[in-house]
Amino acid sequence: MATLTLTDIAKSYPNGYQAIKQLNLTIADGEMVVLVGPSGCGKSTLLRMIAGLEEITNGSLKIDSREVNHLEPGERDIAMVFQNYALYPHMSVYDNMAYGLKNRKTPKAEIKRLVTEAATMLELSHLLDRKPKQLSGGQRQRVAMGRAIVREPKVFLFDEPLSNLDAKLRVQMRLEIKKLQRRLGTTSVYVTHDQVEAMTLADKLVVLNKGNVEQVGTPLDLYDNP
Ligand code: ADP
Ligand code: ADP
Repeated sequence: MATLTLTDIAKSYPNGYQAIKQLNLTIADGEMVVLVGPSGCGKSTLLRMIAGLEEITNGSLKIDSREVNHLEPGERDIAMVFQNYALYPHMSVYDNMAYGLKNRKTPKAEIKRLVTEAATMLELSHLLDRKPKQLSGGQRQRVAMGRAIVREPKVFLFDEPLSNLDAKLRVQMRLEIKKLQRRLGTTSVYVTHDQVEAMTLADKLVVLNKGNVEQVGTPLDLYDNP
């Protein structure tokens, strides 16, 4: 768990386009914040900056009291779940989930404990020897979640993680993500363009427009009392 504090954050791309402008936002310990807003408003850019995948042009980003501007992505203790899952096709489910831990030189027994535990939580225990192409969309999505969970990060980032699933699975996985986030209590930032998903998942909704925060509030604040 961790508090994220963004102060006067700005992002200009090399072509000069300013995608994020002087943005201020605090994300509390254990909170799930959902970023919404029209296409091109800067949701992905903001998420990628938090992840360390995109350089911050200006401003300060703190995890608890630590300035993360100059940390490597691997040092940030943040795990991201992508829209396309980004699984390794030639690796088993077990090895996909274990990969990040092996890179960190986590002891084998500890890796096994973490992967087994996450697999149980995500109902993947019977699928550990399969390759991604032998899984359904929902199962792949769970493996991507599992890979994030085993790292026991302080922060989860979700980049439209359900948009490749059919409508029925989307509803099911949405509920599962909510349950999991509550259970783990991990501070989370979730990007979606689906209003129902946003309302169901968010403790706090952040509406972006043209690179800045337009509105912040609970789903009730924003949708029932416009
Ligand atoms: P969203 O996720 O809300 O759809 P993005 O964060 O992807 O928005 O993009 C925000 C704005 O920045 C858009 O206008 C987009 O065209 C622009 N943008 C994104 N990536 C780049 C890039 N690498 N170079 C220049 N402009 C970019
Ligand atoms: P290596 O990287 O040394 O080739 P693996 O990644 O294949 O090893 O496996 C490392 C350990 O992870 C194994 O000794 C085993 O305990 C555990 N493991 C691998 N696959 C599974 C699985 N499908 N179910 C449970 N444990 C597994």
